[in-house]
Amino acid sequence: MTLAAYTIRALPEPLNGLISMALDLKWSWHHGSDQLWRRLDTELWEATHNAWFVLNSVSAERLQQLAEDREFLAFYQQQLSRHQALTSAPPWCSRDDEAQLAGGIAWFCMEYGVSESLPLYSGGLGVLAGDYLKTASDLGVPVTAIGLLYQQGYFRQALNAEGEQLEFYPYNDPTMLPVMPLRNDAGDWVRVNVPFPGRALRLRVWKAQVGRCELLLLDSNDPRNEPGDRGITSELYSGGLEKRLQQEMVLGIGGWRLLAQTGREPGLCHINEGHSALALIERAAHWQRQNKTSFEVARQATRATNLFTTHTSVAAGFDRFPESLARLYLTPWLEDIGNTLDTILSIANGGGSELNMSGLALGMSGRFNGVSEIHRQVTQSIFQPWFGRWPAADVPAEYVTNGVHTPTWDSPEADELWTEACGQDRWRQPMTDPYPLRDTPDHDLWQMRRNQRHRLVYYLRKRLQNQHCEHEDDSRPAAACGMLLDTESLTLGFARRFTSYKRPDLLLTDPQRLISLLTSRDRPLQIVLAGKAHPNDAEGKALIKRWKQFIRRPEIEGRIVFVEDYDMAVASELIQGVDVWLNCPRHPWEACGTSGMKVLVNGGLNLSQYDGWWAEAWHPEVGWAIRPGATFAELSQTDKHDADDADELYRLLEQQVVPEFYQRSEQGLPETWLAKVRASMDQLTAHYSANRMVREYVNAFYRPMVAQGRERTPRIARELVLFRETITKHWPRLRFGRLAYTRSGDELKVELDVYLDGLGPELVAVDVVAEASSLGERVVQPMTLQGPLAEEAQTYHYECLVPDRPSEHYTPRLRARNARLNLPLEAPHILWFR
Ligand SMILES: *Cc1c(COP(=O)(O)O)cnc(C)c1O
Repeated sequence: MTLAAYTIRALPEPLNGLISMALDLKWSWHHGSDQLWRRLDTELWEATHNAWFVLNSVSAERLQQLAEDREFLAFYQQQLSRHQALTSAPPWCSRDDEAQLAGGIAWFCMEYGVSESLPLYSGGLGVLAGDYLKTASDLGVPVTAIGLLYQQGYFRQALNAEGEQLEFYPYNDPTMLPVMPLRNDAGDWVRVNVPFPGRALRLRVWKAQVGRCELLLLDSNDPRNEPGDRGITSELYSGGLEKRLQQEMVLGIGGWRLLAQTGREPGLCHINEGHSALALIERAAHWQRQNKTSFEVARQATRATNLFTTHTSVAAGFDRFPESLARLYLTPWLEDIGNTLDTILSIANGGGSELNMSGLALGMSGRFNGVSEIHRQVTQSIFQPWFGRWPAADVPAEYVTNGVHTPTWDSPEADELWTEACGQDRWRQPMTDPYPLRDTPDHDLWQMRRNQRHRLVYYLRKRLQNQHCEHEDDSRPAAACGMLLDTESLTLGFARRFTSYKRPDLLLTDPQRLISLLTSRDRPLQIVLAGKAHPNDAEGKALIKRWKQFIRRPEIEGRIVFVEDYDMAVASELIQGVDVWLNCPRHPWEACGTSGMKVLVNGGLNLSQYDGWWAEAWHPEVGWAIRPGATFAELSQTDKHDADDADELYRLLEQQVVPEFYQRSEQGLPETWLAKVRASMDQLTAHYSANRMVREYVNAFYRPMVAQGRERTPRIARELVLFRETITKHWPRLRFGRLAYTRSGDELKVELDVYLDGLGPELVAVDVVAEASSLGERVVQPMTLQGPLAEEAQTYHYECLVPDRPSEHYTPRLRARNARLNLPLEAPHILWFR
C-alpha cells in the first residue's frame, strides 16, 4: 500500500465540498445526506452506505454531469449550509467548559460502531461508543477517541439451509473506509512504536472525523512488521489470549503514546471497559518522567483523572492473562518505562498470579461506574474482592445509565414529526418540556407508525429474497419472499447477540402457544429476528438453528423472518419499523441494554425483562415489563425463572399487547396503543438519549474529576502516598478497646475506645454499622471523637447515637480518612470490631 493511494481524486470544481463531507462521519446521521449520496450512485450507496467509497467509485462522467446539474447543485448547497449551521451553532459545552476540561478527554474503547461504513464493532459496546462520540460532537465536548483499525473487523454472518452459522471476514480496505492517514505538522504519516519481545511493533495511525471529534485508529499492518505482527489488528474478538493481549497493548500503550507524541495533552482519560487499562500505566509513566517522581506518586497524581466504565455483568467476563504471558509481552515495555510486572500485578489483583485488566483499571482510576442502577449493584458485588472486608454495599461504584444517539436512530418519518413538534435543534440541548408531543394528533402518530412498518416490510422482502436465493435450495420459490410478512400486522422485533443468557429462545418455550399467536386469523403477530452468535459459542449457534427450524413449519410460513448479518444497518431498519421490541435476558445479566432505547424516538414500544435500563424506565403507561419490581436479591438467582418468565411473556402478549394493538376506535385508531406510544415517546426518548448520558458524564464526572486532578500536584501526590504508607504501616496494630451501649431516650448510645498505635485520630474514621433487617434499613453512623483517654496512651474515645435495635446488630469499624482521596477506592483499609 503506498501513500499514492491517498492522493485524493480531483473533482469538478463545484463539487469539492463533497470531499470533507464524505470524510466526516457526521453525515452518517443526517437524513438529508442520504439523498445526496444516492444521487451520485444509488446502487453503490444502498449497498455500502459509505459516502467516501461512493465518491471514489462513481465515474468521472457522472461527476461532470452533476457538476452541471443546477438542481443537484442547489440541493448540495443546501446540505452544505445546513451542515455549517449545525457546526457553528453554539454547542451545549461552552468555551468556559472547554477550558475547565483542560486539554480535553481521551476516550479509549476496543470497538467503535459509528456507522456501518466503518465496521469496527461487534455489538452493544461498540455501538454505544459510536453513539457517545457522535453526541460528544453534537454537544461540543472536547473528546479524542482512540481505537483499533481492524482489517477485517468482526465476522459477517450467513446461515446455510440447515440454519448453521457461516462466518466470513471480508477485508476492510482502508482506502475504501472513510479514514485518512493521520499526518503530523510536517505532513508525515504518524507512526507509533510499542516495545515487544525482541522487536518494536510499528503502528500506523488513521483518523476518522466524527463531526467535531476525532477518532484515531491504530493499525499494525505495517509492511515492516513481521507477518504475524501485521495481523494483530486484523480481527475483533477472535484468536486466543495472546492476540488479545497484543491488541490491548496496541490500544493502551500505543494509544497513549500516540496522544503524547502528537502533542495532545488530555486532562482526563476515560476508558470504556478494562481492555485499555494499560493506557493508564503509560499515562502515569509519562507523568513520572515529566515530574521526575516515583511511579507510585505518578499513579497517585494521575488516577484522579482516570475514569473507568465497566459494562460487565459477571466476573468471568473480565480479561485475565496468565502471569507467564504477561511477563513475556510486557517486560520489554515495562523496562522501557522503568517499571516491573510485580508492581502491575499488585495493582491489578493484590499480588495474585494473573493479570486482571479490570482490576488494573480499577487500581489506576479515581472513580468507576456501571451503566444502569441495577448494574451498579452488580458492579459492587463483582468488584467486592478488590475491597478486602468492605461490604459490597460500600464498594464505591457509581452509575450512568447508557443512552442512544437519537439522530442516528430516528426514522425520516419520526424526524419530521419531532421537527414539527419541537424544532430542528431538539436533541442538542436538555429537553425541558415533559410532554413535547402534546399537540401531535393521534392520527399523525399512527400514520407515522404505519409508514415505518410498511418500509420495514418492503425492506425485509427485498433483503430476504437475496438471502433465500443464496442459501435455500428447497422448493419454496424465491418469489415467495414477496409474500413475506404483512404491512398491517402487529410486528415484534428481537435482535441481539445469540447467547444463552439473552434467552433468544424464550418465545419458543411453548411452541403451540406461539403458533396460536402467529396464526390468529384476525389478530396475527409477526416476528422479525436477527443476531449473530460468537464463533466459539456453540450454544448460541444452536439457538439460531432452533429458530431457523421453527420458522420452516408450514403453518407459520411468512410470519417469522430471520435477517442474516445483524449490524447497524439492519438494526436501524428494525428499530424504525417494529411495533414492539422484545428483550428478555436472564436477569440481572443485562448491564443496561440499548437496542430497546432505539425504538423510543420512532414510537415503538418495549416489552422487556425488568432489568438494565428498563427497570428504571418502565411503568405501566409506557410499555410492558416481565417480572416488574423484582429486587436485586431475587434477580440474582440466575436461571430459576425461565419457565415463569416465558409464561408471563405469553400472557402479556395474549392479554395486553395483541388486544391493545388490534382494538380500534371508530376512526380506525388503536387509542390505548397510541396512548402508550405517546407516553413512551414523551417521557423516555430524551432521557434515554446519549445527550443525557454525555451531559451526566460531563457534569458528574469530568468536571469534578478534572478539578480534583488539578489539586494533585507533585507535592500533594507525594503527601498522599506518604499518607497511605503511614496508614499501611500502623494498620495491623490498631485495635478496639471497650465498647458499651446504653439506652438514651428512644436511641442507643454507643461508646468505644480505639487504640491508634500513634496514628493521629484525624487519619482514621470510626463508624457503627447495622445491616438491614426486619427492624429497619441499613445504618452506617459515623462516631464522633471525644478525645484521648487519659489512662491509656494512643487510645481515643468515640461516641454516637443510633436507632434503638438490639446491640448485637451493631458493629463498629475503622477506616482511613483523607478528604483529598476517593475512599475507599484509593485506600481500602478497614478494620471491623469482630
Ligand atoms: C444497539 C445495537 C446493539 C446493542 O443492543 P443490546 O440491547 O445491548 O443487545 C448491538 N448490536 C447492534 C448492531 C446494535 O445496533
